Amino acid sequence: MTFSHILGYPRIGADRELKRATEAYWKGDADRASLEATGRELRKRHWQDQREAGLDLVTVGDFAFYDQVLNVSLLLGAVPARFAAKAELERGEVDLDTAFRMARGRAPSGEPAAACEMTKYFDTNYHYLVPELHQGQDFRLASTRLFDEVVEAQQQGHAVKVALVGPLTWLWLGKERGESSFDRLALLDGVLAVYAEVFARLAKLGVEWVQLDEPALAQDLPGDWKVAFERAYHHLQGSGVKLLVANYFGGLGDNLTLAVNLPVAGLHLDAVRAPQEVETVVDRLLPHKVLSLGVIDGRNIWRADLAALRDQWTNAASRLGERLWIAPSCSLLHVPVDLERETELDAEFRSWLAFARQKLDETVTLARLLAGRVRPEDEALLAACVQAIASRRESPRIHRPEVGARLAALGEADSQRPSPYLQRAEQQRRALGLPLFPTTTIGSFPQTAEIRAARRDHKAGRLSADDYHTRMREEIAQAVRLQEELGLDMLVHGEAERNDMVEYFGEQLDGYAFTRFGWVQSYGSRCVKPPILFGDVSRPAPMTVEWSRYAQSLTGAPMMGMLTGPVTMLQWAFVRDDQPRATTCRQIALALRDEVCDLEAAGIRAIQIDEPALREGLPLRKAEWQEYLDWAVEAFRLSASCVADATQIHTHMCYSEFNDIIASIAELDADVITIETSRSDMELLDAFRDFDYPNEIGPGVYDIHSPNLPEVDWMVALMEKAAERISLERLWVNPDCGLKTRQWEEVTPALANMVQAAKELRRRH
Ligand code: GLN
Ligand code: ZN
Repeated sequence: MTFSHILGYPRIGADRELKRATEAYWKGDADRASLEATGRELRKRHWQDQREAGLDLVTVGDFAFYDQVLNVSLLLGAVPARFAAKAELERGEVDLDTAFRMARGRAPSGEPAAACEMTKYFDTNYHYLVPELHQGQDFRLASTRLFDEVVEAQQQGHAVKVALVGPLTWLWLGKERGESSFDRLALLDGVLAVYAEVFARLAKLGVEWVQLDEPALAQDLPGDWKVAFERAYHHLQGSGVKLLVANYFGGLGDNLTLAVNLPVAGLHLDAVRAPQEVETVVDRLLPHKVLSLGVIDGRNIWRADLAALRDQWTNAASRLGERLWIAPSCSLLHVPVDLERETELDAEFRSWLAFARQKLDETVTLARLLAGRVRPEDEALLAACVQAIASRRESPRIHRPEVGARLAALGEADSQRPSPYLQRAEQQRRALGLPLFPTTTIGSFPQTAEIRAARRDHKAGRLSADDYHTRMREEIAQAVRLQEELGLDMLVHGEAERNDMVEYFGEQLDGYAFTRFGWVQSYGSRCVKPPILFGDVSRPAPMTVEWSRYAQSLTGAPMMGMLTGPVTMLQWAFVRDDQPRATTCRQIALALRDEVCDLEAAGIRAIQIDEPALREGLPLRKAEWQEYLDWAVEAFRLSASCVADATQIHTHMCYSEFNDIIASIAELDADVITIETSRSDMELLDAFRDFDYPNEIGPGVYDIHSPNLPEVDWMVALMEKAAERISLERLWVNPDCGLKTRQWEEVTPALANMVQAAKELRRRH
């Protein structure tokens, strides 16, 4: 027999029930009891799905009202003092509202306080709440939810495996807080004591297996962290349960020996991302340990090639026998719930896909194929799979030879502007007639309720295409008028017509598909619906040219064209697994290049190509960074390089950590980059100064996420700091990011002040 299990299941619900229930609770439209009931209902359904699919164990511990990393913080009593009375922690149960206040700063009960920081979980788009660590911090078991959920599952007749973020990864994801710096590994013993207590209680409940997620093993670990891994798992030995240490999102790399030798009962590997490590691990695995092979892709939506996987892992199966477990590569949290609901996708396309529910079946069938215990339903799934894989391999919807031919014909000159920056800048200054400290914005203006209503009506057929376009043109005209009145120098059209910066382009490009219910949790109750990049990408027709042409026709000032860059278009989608990401990215770059050419031909003299996702595409291991950066930079340049020297290329990135990628940012060779800086007091420009960054920079002078009105003096002072680092003629004045989430009442006075600040700067310099 070959065991099958999953590392975790999406908790949001096929209808986003959890989103609705938590948001209703936060608003006061539903009480605690009904929220808890929704949680119970979802857990019940998800365990039932796992059992019906034929998994040997159901996973408990993956449910969370907000976040699974936060759950461990609650379990450990790691609740910052601003949220909880000590008494609450000592009673041994953190209240649910305390958890919500940690997550979002407020809850139906309790005093509001600054929420915990949130950031992306490894290389996913899932955001976790960063554990706050303090010198000398105490830990104590402060939540019984996990045990209640175990009992709940057992009462429903399930064989339970518990899944938790492991102690080292929990610490790894945390951040030190407080005055003096300290080594967070000093907290490990206290953390381990609580984990041991948790295991003892789980053992008493009859739980045999506990999976500890330790994807920190997929990253470069400093020496003391490796030692800490060994120490921790020696300490946890004999705590009454069998431990399965799970690594995912990448290979073990130089942590392989460490991981294989941990004194635990089993190891889980991500055999989708690092199949090459499996044989070594099998060779070196002690005979009492199990190996859980993550072979079904937990990060993507493609149907697994079961026949190929069976062949690939037959040898491992025969060597390990019952010690082999089969699983998805990571938790299924990162894929949508159920493909069954996508009734609007055509049958062929649908047959190429598998969401979480379908991946359960794939996992079970593959385990039975490898064990040679095939049932009729496995035969049926295998047959359907063989057919789907063949149709996907050959489909003319995916493979369009002209796209490949165009890529193959590219030469070095195609990703190269005609002249170097200094010469281009000369020509652009003349062509655009901009003053010193030119002012601009990042692209979007407020997406008002009226705009969204018009789009909804148009989609539902209540508003004709003509009427919708007229409405959007009115919005654009209004935005242009306002910018002229305010005296901005480089105008934008405001992006009224765009629902989302990726979806808007994806919908117009060949090679992209959209689901109706393909929601994936991003953080808390927030879900995103990433498009599916399934085929060779090309642009059948211009996408933004008419809007930009119209906007430019309304003004004598330069109007900026506005596009989403190739790396961001790739990064925020489910991508093909049948060709390298780099190839897909270059295809998108070529499609965008067509748009850039057409915008220029339509009289647009400046074009912004946004790349907010460039940095998050960095691989988990530093050794792989350069390769990624090389193709990412090339893709950007490919999209931008068809224009004449006098046409100004802008880019925008909304983050502030440029230190380790500054060389690649410079290689993009955008004439102007606008970035987020206002919260760092312009200190992040140090990276640009130290590198001698050659082109123009617009360091955001105010934080668009804050509702406060930015003062003129304050922005002037910030720009003076910028001017200490970057020469004057290369500085722009602009906000931090797009304004689509703000109100006009906030935007208008803020931009008016910003223009005043620029005037004051010009007077002084
Ligand atoms: N042009 C986009 C906007 O202004 C950029 C958004 C972003 O980078 N996140 O909304
Ligand atoms: Zn931004």
